[in-house]
Amino acid sequence: MLIDSHSHIDTEAFDADRDAVLSRAAHAGVDRQIVPAIARSGWAKLGELCAAKAGLYPAYGLHPMYLEEHRPEHLDALVAIIERENPVAIGECGLDYYVEELDHDEQMRYFKRQLELARHYDLPVVVHARRAFDEVAACIRRVGKLRGVIHSFSGSTQQAEAFYKLDFMLGIGGPVTYPRARRLRELVADMPDEFLLLETDSPDQPLSGHQGERNEPARLREVLSVVAGLRKESDEQTARITTINAERLFGLT
Ligand code: ZN
Repeated sequence: MLIDSHSHIDTEAFDADRDAVLSRAAHAGVDRQIVPAIARSGWAKLGELCAAKAGLYPAYGLHPMYLEEHRPEHLDALVAIIERENPVAIGECGLDYYVEELDHDEQMRYFKRQLELARHYDLPVVVHARRAFDEVAACIRRVGKLRGVIHSFSGSTQQAEAFYKLDFMLGIGGPVTYPRARRLRELVADMPDEFLLLETDSPDQPLSGHQGERNEPARLREVLSVVAGLRKESDEQTARITTINAERLFGLT
């Protein structure tokens, strides 16, 4: 059985056929999903969905790409929802230095505060990092005593090693299925078992051969096969390793 460690199954893209998508995922062996939040406005829908459907686990947070929607008081609301709902993680949070309009200092304030909350409540963090791997690692190091996942990791081997030292796992998804993603494929081939997580980032990051399509959690099966092939392991072996890692990180049993 597989766990999609990063799925946005709560978003509008799945409103029309969510039950069919969930049943395709279950048929593909993907019976659990971690569903990270994007902004305050989506938390209620996310919480209701995860309460209604078995195998969906919410994380609450403020995503850096939606900076424009965030307000300082949303951080107070985050404290309240963590205390009320005891989520499996805080996130999605992080730094995105790829999108130019996103103010770095403001992103940093939201990220830092969410890391502090993760430490305070002893929760893992689901981190979005683009063109900001060193900055993200520095923040995590400064706050200290954290654990989590760098979702859709695309950095260098050295950057990956810095995250292992900080007890952070790396989320691997659609991008690894593209033969041209040489650096990522080499990294995944040699990654230590204990830091490997699988994800789809549905509805985003479609797999090779599915460009332009909506991504969905059932496709985690294909991600698994590619990752297993690169690591010269059986699908069963990679499935077992990554499921154990996700259970351990997010406290699932
Ligand atoms: Zn995401």
